[in-house]
Amino acid sequence: MEEIAGDVIGFSDDGRGVQSDEMMLLAMQKAKSLNLPIVAHCEVNSLLNGGYIHDGVYAKAHNHKGICSMSEWAQIARDIELVKKTGVKYHVCHISTKESVDIIRKAKKEGVDITCETAPHYLILSDKDLKEDGVYKMNPPLRGEEDKKALIEGVLDGTIDMIATDHAPHSEEEKSKGLSGSVFGIVGIETAFQLMYTHFVKTGVLSMEKLLDLMVYNARKRFNIKEDLGFSVWDLDANYTIDPKDFLSKGKATPFAYETVYGVNLLTVVNGKVAYKK
Ligand SMILES: [Zn+2]
Repeated sequence: MEEIAGDVIGFSDDGRGVQSDEMMLLAMQKAKSLNLPIVAHCEVNSLLNGGYIHDGVYAKAHNHKGICSMSEWAQIARDIELVKKTGVKYHVCHISTKESVDIIRKAKKEGVDITCETAPHYLILSDKDLKEDGVYKMNPPLRGEEDKKALIEGVLDGTIDMIATDHAPHSEEEKSKGLSGSVFGIVGIETAFQLMYTHFVKTGVLSMEKLLDLMVYNARKRFNIKEDLGFSVWDLDANYTIDPKDFLSKGKATPFAYETVYGVNLLTVVNGKVAYKK
């Protein structure tokens, strides 16, 4: 951690949770001394029991193995106690459960230095939207309707600071084995803004300013990103139908295929160079 501290904006275990309390304490102490955040994927492996979708209505109705909500929130709760001890800056990746929202809201009120993110799919879909298709499989899984509602409340009241994608490109082969056999992960970079804009700004739930805070400015602030990274130009009155065949990403797995969304990216400039032009 010391060796790479000058080149990174934080330290992450994303993909799996840090199972050992002692290891997480040590990592937090080290990150604190380097004045960099810990960015955590929270998941208690011993609670997974071979699950691969949310332990909710769909898993029960279709005889699938479920992932309980506690596997996420129990590790967030553990980490918050360690953050209180160490004073490290702490960020939770892709929260998906109502309990996670409650725990983080409470910690923020107590003055704990914690931020978190969720992703568009957890705000738009729930386990009642599941189908027997690998494009609905990601980790954490799509949770229940109550979780979705709580996440939206968390976004509105500032408990949730950021919207990220958890973009995970996998091959068609890897995603073709249904809910039980496919690998975890969906793509999101090419649809995140349009989905959030269509579902939350056009409907009046979020202002455009708030969405930009969630998708751009809050992350820049939290991770102390000072460079002027660039800008993008959008036609917000134009709509189109999401077709994975059009993605530039090699990963095509999205549960939002063939949904019509508003917002067409006309131009993206990164570090002074045109990265994309329609
Ligand atoms: Zn993760």
